[in-house]
Amino acid sequence: MQVRTMAARLARIWWGTAPAAARRGPLVSCRRWAGASSDTVYDVVVSGGGLVGAAMACALGYDIHFCDKKILLLEAGPKKVLGKLPETYSNRVSSISPGSATLLSSFGAWDHICNMRYRAFRRMQVWDACSEALIMFDKDNLDDMGCIVENNVIMHALTKQLEAVSDRVTVLYKSKAVSYTWPYPFSMADSSPWVHITLGDGSILQTKLLIGADGHNSGVRQAAGIQNVSWNYDQSAVVATLHLSEATENNVAWQRFLPSGPIALLPWSDANHTDFIDSAGSMLQYAVAFLKPTKISARQLPPSVARVDAKSRILFPLGLGHAAEYVRPRLALIGDAAHRVHPLAGQGANMGFGDISSLLHHLRTAAFNGKDLGSMSHLTAYETDRQRHNTALLAATDLLKRLYSTSAAPLVLLRTWGLQATNAVSPLKEQIMAFASK
Ligand SMILES: Cc1cc2nc3c(=O)[nH]c(=O)nc-3n(C[C@H](O)[C@H](O)[C@H](O)COP(=O)(O)OP(=O)(O)OC[C@H]3O[C@@H](n4cnc5c(N)ncnc54)[C@H](O)[C@@H]3O)c2cc1C
Repeated sequence: MQVRTMAARLARIWWGTAPAAARRGPLVSCRRWAGASSDTVYDVVVSGGGLVGAAMACALGYDIHFCDKKILLLEAGPKKVLGKLPETYSNRVSSISPGSATLLSSFGAWDHICNMRYRAFRRMQVWDACSEALIMFDKDNLDDMGCIVENNVIMHALTKQLEAVSDRVTVLYKSKAVSYTWPYPFSMADSSPWVHITLGDGSILQTKLLIGADGHNSGVRQAAGIQNVSWNYDQSAVVATLHLSEATENNVAWQRFLPSGPIALLPWSDANHTDFIDSAGSMLQYAVAFLKPTKISARQLPPSVARVDAKSRILFPLGLGHAAEYVRPRLALIGDAAHRVHPLAGQGANMGFGDISSLLHHLRTAAFNGKDLGSMSHLTAYETDRQRHNTALLAATDLLKRLYSTSAAPLVLLRTWGLQATNAVSPLKEQIMAFASK
C-alpha cells in the first residue's frame, strides 16, 4: 500500500517587502551546477517532471518556435526509464484521450508508447447500481474513444524524448526546488527582473518564466500565494489488476456507480482474445442482426472476474483542488498544481495535457512576435482558456460524485431520468464525448 504524500514546502515569497540587498544576497553565494548555471537566465523553467511537467518540457523542446530558448526541467525524483518492459502490468494506469494522444504524438512520445504497451477502447458503459439507468458511449466509425496506458510507460516515452532533445532542454533529476523568489517591483531598476529558484543544495537558478507542474501540493502555487479551493473526499481509490474468467473482446470501459463509490473495469490486455472468439462473436452478431434487424439493446454485462493480483493492490486518497489563479507575472501553473480532480472520469492527466496544448499555443504566439514569455498578456489568455474548460469538468465530476453517493429515492429518480435522457439524445452524448476527448 502506498499513499502519496508530497511534502509541500512553503517557500518564502517577496512580493514587495524584501530589501534589494536581501533579494540579491543569495545570488552572490550561489554555486555553478553541472548542466545548469546560475549565470544563465533560462527562458523557461518547468518545476516538476511528472507526466505533465515532463510533457511540457518535451513540447517546448520539440517546437521550432523555442529553438533559441533555454529550457530547464527540474524533477525532485530520479530519472524514470524502463530498461525492459516488465511482464506484469503496473497498477498506475491512465485513460488517455485522443486529444492527449495527439499532443504526445506531436513530439514523438506516442510512437514509444505504441511500441511498448497500451490498450485502446471503443465503448464505455456507465450504469447505476440503484436503478436500471445506463448510458452507453460508442464510436460508430470504430475510432478509439481512448487508450489505457501505464503511467510508467508514458514516463519512459517522455524521458526518451527528453534525452533526444538534451541539447535544447536541460533536465535536472533529484533536484528539488525549495524556494522561489519573484521579481519586485518590475519597474525598480536595481532589482533582478527574473524569478529565482533555490534548489535543495543551495544553488540558485533564474528564469523569465516559471511553469509550476509540481503536483497537487504544489510548492510553486503556495510560494506565489495563490489560493487553492480544496477538499478531501471521504474516499480512496483502490487500484488492482484483475484476471477475467471468460474470453472477451476486451475493448469496453465499464463503470458502475455504487452508493459507496464508483467501480470501474478498464480493458488491459487482449490475452483472452482469439481468432476463434472473433469469428464466433461476429457469426452470432450477424445471426442476431438477420433475425432482428433493429438495433440490439445497448445493455451489456461486464465480464466476470476470476482473480485479483493481490500484490498489485494500491490505495490513493482522493480530493478536489482548484487554483483561483493559474498565472501571475512570470508564472503559470499546469496539471495537478492547478487542478486536482476525482478520477471517476479519468481526466486528471488529460486536463494537464490540455493545459500544455493551450499554454504552448499562447507561448508560441508570444515567441513568434518576439514578446517576453513571462508577460501577462498571453499568460492571461492561457488562464482564460483553461479555467473555462477545467472548471466545467471539475464541477461536473464533483456533482457526479455527490449525486451518486446517495441512495435517497428522489435523487436516484433524478439521476435515473438524467442518465436515460442523456442516453437517448445522441447529439448530447456526442457533445460529452467531444468534450472528454480533448
Ligand atoms: C487512482 C487514480 C486514477 C487516475 N486515473 C486517471 C486516468 O485514467 N486518466 C487521467 O487523465 N488521469 C488520471 N488520474 C490523474 C493523474 O494521475 C494525475 O492528474 C496526473 O498524474 C498529474 O500529473 P502532474 O504531473 O500534474 O503531477 P504529479 O504526477 O503529482 O507530478 C508532480 C511532479 O513534481 C515533482 N515535484 C514536486 N515538488 C517538486 C519540487 N519542489 N521540485 C522539483 N520537483 C518537484 C514530483 O516529484 C513529481 O514528479 C488518476 C489519478 C488517480 C489517483
